[in-house]
Amino acid sequence: MISGICASVTAVLRNPKDEVLVVYRFRNPKGLATPAGHIKWEEDAGVAIRRIIPEITDITVKDIVRKKEQLIDVSPVYCNRGKGIHVCYVYEILSWNGNPKVMKPIKHKFVRFMPKSEVAEYIKHGEIDPCFPKILWEKLGIL
Ligand SMILES: [Zn+2]
Repeated sequence: MISGICASVTAVLRNPKDEVLVVYRFRNPKGLATPAGHIKWEEDAGVAIRRIIPEITDITVKDIVRKKEQLIDVSPVYCNRGKGIHVCYVYEILSWNGNPKVMKPIKHKFVRFMPKSEVAEYIKHGEIDPCFPKILWEKLGIL
């Protein structure tokens, strides 16, 4: 993690049917998102995503590849560390074990694989984490 900048990590994980692993958050940033979390102080982003995915989804991560880094304005919703800008590291999960399930029912309505057409419906209705605007989903190749 870079000193003075809040950092988070997220990942795109697709099943063989090309459905995307998503979570639906009750709390800000509310709505549909790829699984994500804060990177701990001095934690490597790759280590962080291997920690966060099983914590949220019960899926164990095997092979990963870093896709990109993106600065995200989180001020529309707030960051619990009080930062307005995040550097978000984006990974693709190439292989994994397990089936998705809700691990934190207080935080998440559901955790599951979702077809792209259904993701598009959530975007259309604005039920999406505003930190992951449509452009990011498009850049990630989800849509
Ligand atoms: Zn933050």
